[in-house]
Amino acid sequence: IQRVFSGVQPTGNLHLGNYLGAIVNFVKLQQTHNCIYCVVDLHAITVWQNPVELTHNIREVTAAFLASGIDPDKHIVFNQSQVAEHAELAWVLNCVARLGWLNRMTQFKEKAGKDRENASVGLYAYPNLMAADILVYRATHVPVGEDQKQHLELARDIAQKFNNDFSESIAAKGYDAKFFPQPEPLITGPATRVMSLRDGSKKMSKSDPSDYSRINLTDDADAIAQKIRKAKTDPEPLPSEEDGLKARPEADNLVGIYAALSGRTKADVLREFGGGQFSGFKSTLVDLSVDKLGPVGAEMKRLMQDPGHVDAVLVKGAERARAIAFETMKAVKDIVGFVQPK
Ligand code: ATP
Ligand code: MG
Repeated sequence: IQRVFSGVQPTGNLHLGNYLGAIVNFVKLQQTHNCIYCVVDLHAITVWQNPVELTHNIREVTAAFLASGIDPDKHIVFNQSQVAEHAELAWVLNCVARLGWLNRMTQFKEKAGKDRENASVGLYAYPNLMAADILVYRATHVPVGEDQKQHLELARDIAQKFNNDFSESIAAKGYDAKFFPQPEPLITGPATRVMSLRDGSKKMSKSDPSDYSRINLTDDADAIAQKIRKAKTDPEPLPSEEDGLKARPEADNLVGIYAALSGRTKADVLREFGGGQFSGFKSTLVDLSVDKLGPVGAEMKRLMQDPGHVDAVLVKGAERARAIAFETMKAVKDIVGFVQPK
């Protein structure tokens, strides 16, 4: 049985993109894989976080996992900073990855913005930590949104370079030549890249200053309705076929959201709504969104009233994660040649 790893940053404003691009797939994969789902708090601090808010946001992402149907008894749910091996392996991988590889990462360019000299070193090295997150469990499958594709490719390159750089030691010490497996991204479903409701060229994001750009998992029915009604569209009616969405990013986005929430294909949604005006389509989308997201948001709020329970889930998950990560790190130290207890 294959192992899945994925993470979500506790940076606040969990949104529909996180839900459809990542969390919904996390839930499904529980039936076929051994899953490890991580609240990646070490990633969050690559951009400064208010400590009080960070604590709250770690619990909120955990609550979102649980409310969406992730089972922390059958699978593993924890926060990254409780398992020191993530940071430890990341250091080794910092010494395997090349500057030139990191220089190509588009997320760093976007997040650092114009004032690149002032970005944290952590923000730059983020993809190496992400590679460590996955490789420390020797996970083979990583469900993520489209925006993480480039980082996954880097993780594959890092895994391969480690295996090559240390091939003699790996063989001499009796480990499998493919010590680190090549992790495969799982980018599936009709909403792998949910766009901002205000601008069809930007991805929906936690960090967008406009709250109208995204639907938050904790939004109530009124907020969901307002945001969808105000969502940017063009004046044309909906097309009848998927091809007609090509030059219409806002229409494409709303149809994609509808398809993902209803478990249908975009083509199928257009067979029903093609030729109609946006106003009617938006009303149906509001009902569908409230129907699907309402219970998740309500359960998150319920869980957040008992932080003791949420914290206990994380502690227990971290213990189980650590047991796996410790074994990998022990082997890595052996392969690299560090002296350590037998
Ligand atoms: P940040 O702006 O802090 O990076 P984020 O919205 O990108 O926040 P992350 O925690 O970085 O959220 O990502 C968590 C998961 O959600 C990842 O698998 C990522 O690919 C996915 N994801 C993020 N935004 C979207 C989106 N707009 N559409 C689909 N998937 C998304
Ligand atoms: Mg992100």
